Amino acid sequence: MDKEFALDPHGLQQAIDWMGREFSTLESLDLPTHLPQLGMGSLAALNSLAPSILGGAAGLGKATSFAHMDPPTPWITWALTLWNASLNQNLLHPATSPVAGDIEKRVVDWLTPFFGMDGGHMTPGSTVANLTALWSARECAGISEVIASEGAHLSIAKAAHILGLTYKSIPINAQGSIDAAQLPVNLSQSALVLTAGTTSTGAVDALDLAGKAAWTHVDAAWAGPLRLTKHAPVLAGIDLADSVAVSAHKWLFQPKESALVLFKNTEKAHAAISFGGAYLATPNIGVLGSHGAAATALLATLLAWGQEGLAQRIEHAMKLAQHLSEFVASDERLQLYAQPQTGIVVWGPKDASLFHHIQSSLPVGSTSATTVSGVQWFRNVAANPQADIEGLVAAIKDSLNYNRHAT
Ligand SMILES: *Cc1c(COP(=O)(O)O)cnc(C)c1O
Repeated sequence: MDKEFALDPHGLQQAIDWMGREFSTLESLDLPTHLPQLGMGSLAALNSLAPSILGGAAGLGKATSFAHMDPPTPWITWALTLWNASLNQNLLHPATSPVAGDIEKRVVDWLTPFFGMDGGHMTPGSTVANLTALWSARECAGISEVIASEGAHLSIAKAAHILGLTYKSIPINAQGSIDAAQLPVNLSQSALVLTAGTTSTGAVDALDLAGKAAWTHVDAAWAGPLRLTKHAPVLAGIDLADSVAVSAHKWLFQPKESALVLFKNTEKAHAAISFGGAYLATPNIGVLGSHGAAATALLATLLAWGQEGLAQRIEHAMKLAQHLSEFVASDERLQLYAQPQTGIVVWGPKDASLFHHIQSSLPVGSTSATTVSGVQWFRNVAANPQADIEGLVAAIKDSLNYNRHAT
């Protein structure tokens, strides 16, 4: 009996104890340059890694964190991830995932109606979800090109490249969404990708363009979960799409890697991207081979919170973004790129020379930067419902006032 494969409550308790500790300084990683010949033992490895992995990590759930699409994750997902690691189920084959496979189907069934789709499957991210959807589009609709706005995520161009499809980029309007007037008239050979919440500015493309092309894919990686909230109308028209991508590791508060690709006609879409194999009882659908049980953490979260608990957290995050954008709009020294649609606030000083000063005075991890049409902006993302927006507003005010006294 090899104890390394058995439950070690003492070792796991130690791992949990480390999680509760505060680390005052960022711990850097100090590792041997080569693979060690002899092992130090599991407990020693755990203790040697804890300070740098825990103490050196970006604090995504901290009160100051309001910069990126990566949310804090609820503890129930930590527990399910631990179970997943120990069980190591493989959803490639029902024999290696008798329950986990059904759980993924159930989670997909729960979520598809909010998007007007009829099924789909989980992927490790929307990058893979977008690739999968465009692969189906190529097989089912015979498309030869992919059209998306300049604000589309790079995974769309990447998917076109992998699939051997021409990629056409359409300019954005002043709100950051696709300039529909510049779309080609003939879309009969095209997959049109509409973004519901662009990565840079959170803009939502006109989703009523869905249906105008041979295939319409909506990349709702970021803003898709708004469909489960009172903000659902922001994504009105998404149900007209042929496929939808949603990242669960963004606004569904899941640990990476967790996302969904959904289809209007799943039977047809899945059939087009299925491969049989001698040892496989059921065809292998989609891009992945072996594939883990990320669905169990999502299921547990949805059971724990219900739609209401999830919606409350997203709606609260939306309120934080709204508060920040109202502050920016009210301060004559600042300007908004556009009214935020999906919890992403893009703003900057009217006097561009103040940009770097403000940037260096804001708390680490509070604010990111983005370049839109050649102009640099600050960017805040409402992924963290625990963010302290009063604190961020105070820090922005401080940085502006400091500068006024200095000049
Ligand atoms: C994050 C994002 C993606 C990529 O999703 P991953 O889950 O990071 O692979 C695609 N599109 C948009 C609009 C995104 O915001």
